[in-house]
Amino acid sequence: MKQYQIEIYDFKLLRKKLDEIRQDTNGIEARNILFHLFCGVDDKNYISKILDDVRVRFPGSHLVGSLSNGEIFEGHLTDPEFVLTVYAFESSYAEVDFIECRFGTERKAADRIRQKAEVTDPKGIEILTAKQGFEMWKVEKGLHSISTSVRIFGGVSLGHDHLHENAFVFDENGNYSERSLCVIYYYGDDLHVMTDISLGWTPLGREMTVTRVSNNALEELDGVPATQVYSKYLGMEMNDEFFANTIEFPLMLERGGFPMLREPFNQDGSGALTLAADLFEGEKVRIAYGDPTKIMEDDTAMVRRVREFAPDAILLFSCSARKSYWSYFVNKEMEPFQKLAPTSGFYSGGEIIRNKGYVHEHNVALVAVAFREGRLPDELPEQVYISPTMLHGQLSIVQRLACFIKATATELEEVNEKLRKIAKIDELTQLYNRRELEHQLEEAVNNARKNQTELSFIMLDIDHFKTINDTFGHVVGDKVLQAISLILKTVASVSGTDAGNASAGRFGGEEFIIVLPGKNGEEAVRIAEGIRSEVESHDFKEAGAQTVSIGVTTLRANDIDNDQISIRVDEALYQAKRSGRNRVVFL
Ligand code: GH3
Ligand code: MG
Ligand code: MG
Repeated sequence: MKQYQIEIYDFKLLRKKLDEIRQDTNGIEARNILFHLFCGVDDKNYISKILDDVRVRFPGSHLVGSLSNGEIFEGHLTDPEFVLTVYAFESSYAEVDFIECRFGTERKAADRIRQKAEVTDPKGIEILTAKQGFEMWKVEKGLHSISTSVRIFGGVSLGHDHLHENAFVFDENGNYSERSLCVIYYYGDDLHVMTDISLGWTPLGREMTVTRVSNNALEELDGVPATQVYSKYLGMEMNDEFFANTIEFPLMLERGGFPMLREPFNQDGSGALTLAADLFEGEKVRIAYGDPTKIMEDDTAMVRRVREFAPDAILLFSCSARKSYWSYFVNKEMEPFQKLAPTSGFYSGGEIIRNKGYVHEHNVALVAVAFREGRLPDELPEQVYISPTMLHGQLSIVQRLACFIKATATELEEVNEKLRKIAKIDELTQLYNRRELEHQLEEAVNNARKNQTELSFIMLDIDHFKTINDTFGHVVGDKVLQAISLILKTVASVSGTDAGNASAGRFGGEEFIIVLPGKNGEEAVRIAEGIRSEVESHDFKEAGAQTVSIGVTTLRANDIDNDQISIRVDEALYQAKRSGRNRVVFL
């Protein structure tokens, strides 16, 4: 395929370029030629004049276009604000369908696309739309069942002013529409289409649940007005500047196992946020931020995948949020594509791509579509990199802060992990503490009831422990507690069953408990007897010989709550003490 791009700022020059291209594509059928026109200015007269010039020279060819938030020419954001891209295929061709859509007719529109796809078996389907007056996700849903061999991609029109209401798409006949789907079908036995996506944003802070949403207005997160979340975590004021501030902090969610971003672009004064695309009640979101290092990593990974495809041409749909995010460095993430193949496209209000069957509209994404006519060449294009040149100014600060956030979040997570552990463990003996043991006992009882398995419970008390303290002091007493704990830990570690892990804990003072899931009374008594004799024969050094008394019981079908098993084991222990100590009593 041949590929040309024209920056339009002068009609004489445009005509000259078009004439040259006509010469160069002499012999190529008109239907094999597809034009994309990306317009940064809402000037339909000007656009119509361009269409006239194209139509006169390329009758029978197709042209699709869109109002754009930024025009990509040869891999960089361009100034002239009108970019015309020409794909001249050897044998492949495109067909264009302009489908009117309204609330309630989304399914019908999707059916029309799907039916055409089923009958004509295209390689790719591109959708350009301003998506006004209907719900885009309903159209997307109707496209999921199209054969997965068909790549589906596209972009949502958005003007330079970021106003979705002014956006429109059009075709070669000068049909302009805010409410249509401009659908381009790509055909050809030799045609290969690849689609890919890079997000790069990183979730930050805690997860929140979408509790109220209507249309694309996110009303509540965790029952709190959505704007309050932005003012709490990001200190954003609900004023005219709101959009400029939130664009770089979209909400991140996961759908069908894929991460996805939603960009709040306005607030309606009632506490709700207007989102650029759909979000549903019950979905979990986190605020996300752009870490330049991570974005470049994700972009680089995508560029490498595109390189493997050896493209003839690349079409980019990049979110307007990325343009304002990168600002001065905006070309950084596009230039590498241009090194692989001529790259054009536009900055959009939504990026459409199919991922594992599901067609979704993304925000804040960079979607790349690569075209190749003919088989993979023996040699791939040269490896390209996103230049690691230092960022400066504001983005450099963002980069440092992102690094700081990441490091701090990791540290906090480590501290949390330690705290979680400390909260469960008795310091002196390193066994589970009473609170944790009670929790584990409750869980074990519930499991045993649910799965109809056995559960035994052991309680142990050191005999005449007070005299050790009185005779040798607390330090020696502590050592005895530790030595016995070690015995219990060893017993617990070998007593786990399919029904659960056995756990030993310090109930308090010189009293211990062991929960034995999956063990019946007989087995538990044997284990208890083992502990008793082990302690009896253990060498406690200066403290001398020690003994323990042990109560054992099992869960009974008619135990109404956890208290009963605890009361019973306590009673068993009491009886062991009363009947002479250094013994096991089963109740
Ligand atoms: P019995 O055979 O009836 O259980 O007699 P006992 O002396 O073991 O029972 P008692 O409840 O009268 O005494 C328990 C002692 O355990 C009292 C307390 O000083 C001691 N103790 C409790 N916690 C600790 C501890 O952490 N370290 C030490 N060294 N002693 C402790
Ligand atoms: Mg005691
Ligand atoms: Mg005691």
